[in-house]
Amino acid sequence: MTCIRRLVLLSTAVCVATAGLQAQAGRPAGADTIDIASLKTWLTYLASDELQGRQVYSEGLGLAASYIADHLQRWGVEPAGDDGSYFQTVRVLGVRSNSRSSVTIVAGGERRTFKDGEGITLPANMGGRQTVRGEEVEFLGYGLQVPASGIDDYEEIDVRGKVVVWLGAAGPRDAGTGIGRLLAARSQFAIGQGAAAVIAPGAGRAGASRGSGAPQPPRGRRQGPQADFTTAQRYDRPVAPIVSAQDEFLEFLFSRSPVGYQELKEMADRQEPLPRFPLSGVTLIFEIDPEYSVVNTRLSRNVVGLVRGADPALAGTYVSFGAHYDHIGYQQASPTGGATGGGGATGGVGFGCQGQGRPTPRPDDIVYNGADDDGSGTVALMAIARAFADGSTPRRSMLFIWHTGEESGLQGSRYNADFPVVPNEDVVAHLNMDMIGRNRCDDPAEANTVYLVGSDRISTELHNLSEDVNTGLGKPMKLDYEMNDPADPESIYTRSDHYSYAAKGIPVIFYTTGLHADYHYVTDEIDRIEFEKLVRVARLVYLTGQRLGTLERPPARDNRGPRAGRGASGQLTP
Ligand SMILES: [Zn+2]
Repeated sequence: MTCIRRLVLLSTAVCVATAGLQAQAGRPAGADTIDIASLKTWLTYLASDELQGRQVYSEGLGLAASYIADHLQRWGVEPAGDDGSYFQTVRVLGVRSNSRSSVTIVAGGERRTFKDGEGITLPANMGGRQTVRGEEVEFLGYGLQVPASGIDDYEEIDVRGKVVVWLGAAGPRDAGTGIGRLLAARSQFAIGQGAAAVIAPGAGRAGASRGSGAPQPPRGRRQGPQADFTTAQRYDRPVAPIVSAQDEFLEFLFSRSPVGYQELKEMADRQEPLPRFPLSGVTLIFEIDPEYSVVNTRLSRNVVGLVRGADPALAGTYVSFGAHYDHIGYQQASPTGGATGGGGATGGVGFGCQGQGRPTPRPDDIVYNGADDDGSGTVALMAIARAFADGSTPRRSMLFIWHTGEESGLQGSRYNADFPVVPNEDVVAHLNMDMIGRNRCDDPAEANTVYLVGSDRISTELHNLSEDVNTGLGKPMKLDYEMNDPADPESIYTRSDHYSYAAKGIPVIFYTTGLHADYHYVTDEIDRIEFEKLVRVARLVYLTGQRLGTLERPPARDNRGPRAGRGASGQLTP
């Protein structure tokens, strides 16, 4: 862009004014400003070895943050971070947790209380202090929903406000393979369905470092006390209790039920089908009483900018756009000495491309450049911000957020979801881009394909708007919903930053072009980026955001869950 290259030293005001004049003289505007040359220039720097793989808490990530912020300033994008800056400090806390919690079972006039650590275990991060009384307790067998295998332990049972109990760590034999994530997410799933609390089978806390009995660091080493959990979110709000229960607790819980615990346990061990039944006459009282102390704090930064809406009546509402600008760093050990990734996230990571192995890296290449992950989303977001700042402002305000620490557990988005730069209730939708610059598994047949996840889950209107914007393009893309399939066991929906906002009820769309052999590998470099495709995806996201910014009324939140799946296309009936 002329403006950037020639007027770098002049004030923002001059730069914007010049841009306006140029627009009148037939210079590209809006989506047309999103061009290959700019994306390539920015990504050449952001994905260079100089930035050392942009790991959270590293110098390389700091350089990337400054680079993005400098551009926002030149383009006249307003700062939306702390104290009038482009940076939102993200505090990641190491927290020590001591529990005085307990669960009391009242069954047929008998009453027994189990303290945390004695027959039951609560997570170290158990939320704020509260008492939960469960008068209705529902045993759901394996507590599993696997649409692909026709398994639905929730069929005809409304668990809202109830305590859900499930058994069988390994799941039923007929559930099929590759359902590890579904099995692991059963308790969270129950809470998502409205359960007030969950009882799941689990081992005790043997060997876990928690409470006052935790192992102390060796004498002479200057170390603070060990944290029991790390979080970028609030931990003082009450959350639905999830209790791991041992045999003694479960035996008493099932003592008056039609099938006893021993029998259920043996059936579960053999992975046979389990019955489902309410535990009538049983009441559970959860006394959640934690004591937390912060033992360490680490600081990192989201980069945030804003283009204020043109309509005073709507400028207090926002369309928010996201990408993560961090990656996993560099190999800290020598390649010959059993290298490990800086983020520790590379070991044995799968990429799901049948029959493909890892490419051969350049000799001595130790930097995880993350050109696609998520350099592609980072530069697309820069181009989108510039396009909105270029004079084509919609009625609503446009918020742009480059998240930190995504690779370390969605830190930046989790922080902003709990300590938001603008109120969550004023955000009409969040559009997230993560890995949008390649073809899935490098398959040329994917050249026109982008995968959308989540678009229909919270707002059917958002899904239909997104479809409509794509159809209106001169050359529409193929919007593929395979990763949004209700039967998808990979749970992509919960695995990037958009989920932090979806969990707050904000309608989201996640855009990705899928995994490839360079995923979380030193070969994820700029020369493998399909820039023409990257431009097309960025323009689609820009135009979708622009349409959302112009709507009189935000897309309605009907919360109907995933419906568009494998092979789906076009609009859904509201
Ligand atoms: Zn990513």
